Amino acid sequence: MVKLTAASVRIGATATSKAEAIRQVGQVLVEAGHIQPAYIESMLAREALANTFLGNGIAIPHGKPEDRDLILETGIAVLQIPNGVTWNAGETARLIVGIAARSDEHIDILRRLTRVLGDAALVERLSQTRDPADIVEALTGSRPLPASPSPGDYDHAIQVVIHNPTGLHARPATAFVETARRFQAAVRVRYGDAVADGKSLLSLLQLGVSSGASVTISAQGTDAPAALAALKALVESGMGEEPVAEDTANRPKVPYRGWVPQHVATTINGIAAAEGLAVGPIRHYRRAPLVVSDTPGDRMSEATALERAIAEARSELELVAGEVSRRLGSSRAAIFRAHAELLTDPALMRETVSRIFDGHSAAWAWQQTIAARVAQLEKLDDPVLAGRAVDLSDVGQRVLRHLLGLGEMPFISLAEPAILVADDLTPSDTATLDPDSVLGLCTALGGPTSHTAIIARSLGLPAIVAAGTAVLDIEDGTPAILDGYSGRLYLRPSAADVEAARALRAGLDQEQAVAFATRHQPAITRDGVHIEVAANVNRVADVVRALENGADGVGLMRTEFLFLERDSAPDEEEQYQAYRAMVEAMNGRPLIIRTLDIGGDKEAPYLNIAREDNSFLGIRGLRLCLRRPDLFEPQLRAIYRAAMHGPLKMMFPMVATLEEVQQAKAIAERIRAELNAPPVEIGIMVEVPSAAMLADVLAQEVDFFSIGTNDLTQYVLAMDRLHPDLARQADSLHPAVLRTIARTVEGAASAGRWVGVCGGIASDPLGAAILVGLGVQELSVSIPSVATIKAHLRGLSAADLRDLARRALACRNAAEVRAL
Ligand code: PEP
Ligand code: MG
Repeated sequence: MVKLTAASVRIGATATSKAEAIRQVGQVLVEAGHIQPAYIESMLAREALANTFLGNGIAIPHGKPEDRDLILETGIAVLQIPNGVTWNAGETARLIVGIAARSDEHIDILRRLTRVLGDAALVERLSQTRDPADIVEALTGSRPLPASPSPGDYDHAIQVVIHNPTGLHARPATAFVETARRFQAAVRVRYGDAVADGKSLLSLLQLGVSSGASVTISAQGTDAPAALAALKALVESGMGEEPVAEDTANRPKVPYRGWVPQHVATTINGIAAAEGLAVGPIRHYRRAPLVVSDTPGDRMSEATALERAIAEARSELELVAGEVSRRLGSSRAAIFRAHAELLTDPALMRETVSRIFDGHSAAWAWQQTIAARVAQLEKLDDPVLAGRAVDLSDVGQRVLRHLLGLGEMPFISLAEPAILVADDLTPSDTATLDPDSVLGLCTALGGPTSHTAIIARSLGLPAIVAAGTAVLDIEDGTPAILDGYSGRLYLRPSAADVEAARALRAGLDQEQAVAFATRHQPAITRDGVHIEVAANVNRVADVVRALENGADGVGLMRTEFLFLERDSAPDEEEQYQAYRAMVEAMNGRPLIIRTLDIGGDKEAPYLNIAREDNSFLGIRGLRLCLRRPDLFEPQLRAIYRAAMHGPLKMMFPMVATLEEVQQAKAIAERIRAELNAPPVEIGIMVEVPSAAMLADVLAQEVDFFSIGTNDLTQYVLAMDRLHPDLARQADSLHPAVLRTIARTVEGAASAGRWVGVCGGIASDPLGAAILVGLGVQELSVSIPSVATIKAHLRGLSAADLRDLARRALACRNAAEVRAL
């Protein structure tokens, strides 16, 4: 290991030029006995060939390899120039580390230097210190490096809740970093015990903050309060994520009637990732793998090549972001800005430079650094964030192309319109697709939440993912129909099937366009019956989306989503903020908040709920809440506090008995009185047969019913709603379920109460029609179904629907109902 002593460190030097600085540091090396004076000329000559400025105020001048004979003993010297010297245009060096290396003994100091390099505060301190020992310690580690800042919060701190549907992932985190950097104040983000630098994207991503999580943002510096105010506003506004779901808001879900072709040679099953039908030949897209060999040139030129490649990739990303923004909107382009931001991370640079100093080529070093980071991100608990490892890998490839001299990512264009088949597509691949020539996408790998799926949806391209590697063997040019609704790829269809697929597509497009155009009009049947069509939501962001899609209100807000995917329950304050935000977003429209429905299929490990053999029949929903005042009471308090800001209704899930309703109401009333809050309408979910049978009795107790047909079906038919083999049979249109619903409506009517349905069958056109015929007054449906269900009901008459419902009740099985 090379020695650096205080004698080889010059403090408080001045230099008017780079050459003068190099001469001075060279002189220190001469005086310390490391080099012959002639080596200084070699250092100057080397500098003329390649820039030795590392970044962050540090330069490492050294001589040419062929002049090694002029080195007497490997060593380094440091010249500190507190006021800096211009190294190149725009580059000011304040710590000049002169290197005289006969062999590799100085590498250790260089590795340490790269660590110092990324720590701006430390560089600043070393550039100003009056004590040479500080520099010696920092570079040799003979005393520990100054401790990194304590992980505590800074003086000014606020707490915020991250509401972005997929947590603090790359896109919102980029917006966060960009905002934080506008301020001089240092910013820290704490999630549990983990602390991140609020100005470093990678550091933020590694926190793994999931949706609904509460984080502490703290800041220090003169503009700390302003920084916190800006960051708070940013987080509350969704951090640049448009409040639309990843699937296109402007495309209502059209009722799709399960088309199956008559004559196809082969059917391939994948996962439906983007709706639509595509008809055309198959074309394969294969990204040529990048071959990286570790054949390093000299270290400085490798480091320079790295810097250049990163700069090129960043300007390429600017162009891609601009292009995608024009084509798909700014929210889609955000991922490429996030990619560019990833490249500014000093840690990536530092790790790669360190590998270069260890004697590797820049391309190899970069590839290793990215691979290690990707592996780290993949290990995170949060599947969405781990999925974002794809982003880092993608941006890594982009830089690698430049390092290998391959230039920009090529555009994917096809000679003739075709269905593109690939193993998997990166965000960059999907952004460079030419939608005029790509009819649809089918990937062997990937998942429904991958970027492939997201971008396909925003391009309006039907897509199937996870179709299996067999798709890679399909012959190029094979005629096919891609069904993005069912996730099936049909090969070699008959001419009649092709015709049928085209006709179906035209019809669906037409329906979709009409439904969207009329989404804000009420759903009034031809004979004048008004049906309220509301939406089911899980989060605040969904509310805005629901309203944009034409929802009259929110018929079911599933509060358990505030409790899932996190380590501890949200406290009263956090819940209050969430419910209040919803009430305010609804601006007077109906909003029904359902109290916690945990248990059954929805687990929150931190609640320590005992495992049960029959979890759907055990302690779930209201049963759990009545046993856990620690969960129920803060939630009720939060709901009543939110009710002070606008109208809301509350309902209890999984009610089976009268006593449960009475107990829950008594607790709610006590809390309301304690808070002196306004009374709110209280309803129950009818999803257990006993509640349906006792509807007339329960109706005396509550203001309304909302039928949860998902659970009601499972309990009426005794078929686990998650059982894959029972999925087809567990049909909510089974006459036994319909009769239970009819009974519920009658019971409610006996006490003058209204009934809604918030289970999945309300989003089905036939289901919605029968429900209205049975006397249901409100349908709460999935957001993409709002516009089409409204349009569908407008075309029908309530009198006809009553007749339809009568016939449905007389059917013997679900198939007969569906045949109506
Ligand atoms: C239902 O059971 O139909 C319902 C709407 O509630 P969840 O799906 O949340 O159980
Ligand atoms: Mg339910």
